[in-house]
Amino acid sequence: MDTPALGQPASAASSLEPYVQLLRALLPRLDVLSVFNAHGELYWSSQGAVEPDLITLLPESIRAAEKDPVAFGEQRSVRGAPIYLFWLRRDDGAQPATPFAVVTVSLRSAAVDAEQRSLSFIQSMVRPAIECLRRELLARDEIFNLQSSMLEQDNDLEMLLSVSGGGSDSRAEDGNDLKAIVANATEHLKVGLSALIIPEKGIALVQVAKDKPIATTLLAKAHRHLLSMAQVRRQATIVNRLTFGSGDSAAYRVLACPIPKADGRAMGVLALFRVDSAPEFTAHHGRVTELLARRIASIVTNSYDALTGMLTRPAFEQRVNAALTNSGFGSGYVERDGADALRAWCALFIDINRLHLINDNYGMHMGDRVIAQLGELIRGRLPPGAIAARISGDRFAILVQASLDDATRFAESLRAGAEAVGAAFGDGKMPTSVSIGVAVVDPRSEELVHAFAAAETACKAANDRGRNRVEVYHEADESIVRRFTDINLVADLRRAIAEDRLELRAQMIVPLGAKRSAPHFEILLRVIGEQGEIVGPDSFLSAAHRYQLMPTLDRWVIQHSIDMLRPHADLLAASRVQFNINFSGQSLQDAEFTDWIEKLIERSGLDPGCLCFELTESAAIGNLARAEPLMRRLRELGCSIALDDFGTGLSSLAYLRTLPVDLLKIDGSFVRDVLKDPRAESMVQAIAQLARSMSLTTVAEYVETDEIMSRITALGVDFGQGFAIGRPVPLAEIVAELPLYAAAAQPSGVWPASTAA
Ligand code: C2E
Ligand code: CA
Ligand code: CA
Repeated sequence: MDTPALGQPASAASSLEPYVQLLRALLPRLDVLSVFNAHGELYWSSQGAVEPDLITLLPESIRAAEKDPVAFGEQRSVRGAPIYLFWLRRDDGAQPATPFAVVTVSLRSAAVDAEQRSLSFIQSMVRPAIECLRRELLARDEIFNLQSSMLEQDNDLEMLLSVSGGGSDSRAEDGNDLKAIVANATEHLKVGLSALIIPEKGIALVQVAKDKPIATTLLAKAHRHLLSMAQVRRQATIVNRLTFGSGDSAAYRVLACPIPKADGRAMGVLALFRVDSAPEFTAHHGRVTELLARRIASIVTNSYDALTGMLTRPAFEQRVNAALTNSGFGSGYVERDGADALRAWCALFIDINRLHLINDNYGMHMGDRVIAQLGELIRGRLPPGAIAARISGDRFAILVQASLDDATRFAESLRAGAEAVGAAFGDGKMPTSVSIGVAVVDPRSEELVHAFAAAETACKAANDRGRNRVEVYHEADESIVRRFTDINLVADLRRAIAEDRLELRAQMIVPLGAKRSAPHFEILLRVIGEQGEIVGPDSFLSAAHRYQLMPTLDRWVIQHSIDMLRPHADLLAASRVQFNINFSGQSLQDAEFTDWIEKLIERSGLDPGCLCFELTESAAIGNLARAEPLMRRLRELGCSIALDDFGTGLSSLAYLRTLPVDLLKIDGSFVRDVLKDPRAESMVQAIAQLARSMSLTTVAEYVETDEIMSRITALGVDFGQGFAIGRPVPLAEIVAELPLYAAAAQPSGVWPASTAA
């Protein structure tokens, strides 16, 4: 027990007077009873003042008690009169046997015989009463200790609560939370200097106390020691006398606590310093500091992405807002010139291209390595003061204080660096790269969302324009401005879905050359605008993609197509008329999509053979892991599968062998150019030949003229679709004419004139 016994002087309420009465009953000549603590200081006396001579005796008596651990007490004399000292010890048998209290008894000076004054006689008389007194004093002592430790714990609790931020633990916090913890520790644990150092995150927070301050220069000497101490010890380390460096002989009390990472190793250290005249650090301080360290660790972990060490999105938003506010933005932008003009901020939005290909083909761990290396690249090149984050799986955002030109140059250097990193991945067959959008942060915008929207828009444009490039946001750029209006479009689109203002059209696909078979129809979606105007997918698909509306649209289209075809199930089963339905890559992410489609078809009573599903080549190859099983199940049901926009994706033809595909739809861009561009022509021919060798059927889209139709027929394409054959018309009309189309497949059938829209 390290707390001195009888720490608190006895008060009136804690008077020991009853013991005096008890002892007087046993020893009628008892004069004065006094109690001293282990340091020889008076705790209580039956007489106001105590003889100074008696006080001088006490240290010596305490030493005598230590030498003779079983002795009960001793007799001494003060100015000729005998005085009896009784040593009250604890029950723990600790060595040395220092008493926690000494009781002294003096007698009234009356003539008594020597025997009656002997120590052994007095002891035998008072022993039981002194034992009761000992027990009471021990109990008081314990209560006092409990109270003070509770008080201390209350204080600690108060501090820990005040640094816990009140919010949920999973929330990421900004640097201010860490600052608050360090400030709290400084004040609460009464230290002269506190420091939080986390080198890998670039965190160095230092707080000097007002009371007994310690100069921060100490840290320059100490920080290396502290960090290495944190590496080897998992708990708080206390050194109550430590000198740093040669010239300086000053000693400090140091409490250093590692900031733990998930793997148990230290990411940094929280160090508290006291001057050596201040009280020592105790194990209790160590435990409190460990709690603070854990709190710091959780804040840091939630603020930083584990894979890249960059900020997480919420932490990023807080930092960026703070940076913009501090630089004068937000609180009103003041235009100044000269040296103190506010410097421009630029936002960079970075998108990793085709990461999913790496994930699908080499596994997620390889994708993670790409992300980690790009993160490292970005962190390594950040200019001072820049703030960078991984804001979602394959996207990064950076705020730099630089002119648009400088920021663009920086972006270009990142793009080139990423290209070099990405080229080496896998076996080099799936090079990854980044697209970067750069924009000046609009000083008027109050929200980060707006600040980065322009950069994101430019990044999308970089993607649209072929990826692996840097695009700068210009308001005049039409394709970029269109993205901006996406946001409004999405609201319109949602409303259109809710109000069922969608319509299905169908475009005929006919067999080419001498082949005689029933036509196919591709079902295409239209939105009916609020004024009744017909809106094509061109105007809403990019917004629908961006805002994850495609799965909803796909389900709507499939559901309504089947509903419209159902009444004609028998006719369709007897003919070979086929309806092609498009669905998007986003629906592949929908885990229930396959089951949903399967049930829908089974319950419809339709012959699954009259349905063909179109998925673009790039969506299929981009998510093989999901596309393949879905295609397989649809095929098992009896539906056909078409690869749409074939020739534009990056599919190595090897995929074709493994994918369950029936049809290739040759991308319209080749078909349209087939007469004027020999490369387009040989592409169409190559696809047609390849398909034939694999028993796949080919369809050419964008057959805009009769000349194109003859040429592709000659090149060996099986079916044609395009304005020269027929424009999309309402599906309802096609359905009404179904008996005609069914007849067309018959050898004696009549071909209906193409329905022009
Ligand atoms: P797609 O699947 O390649 O559909 C063919 C598009 O080419 C249709 O445009 C069609 O109207 C157009 N087209 C047909 N013949 C010609 C021609 O001779 N020349 C030209 N220039 N264009 C022709 P649409 O209907 O605007 O659809 C555009 C894209 O929107 C479609 O391309 C498809 O990717 C998507 N889409 C349309 N409807 C749906 C749908 O219901 N679901 C899904 N997921 N996507 C759809
Ligand atoms: Ca299509
Ligand atoms: Ca197409």
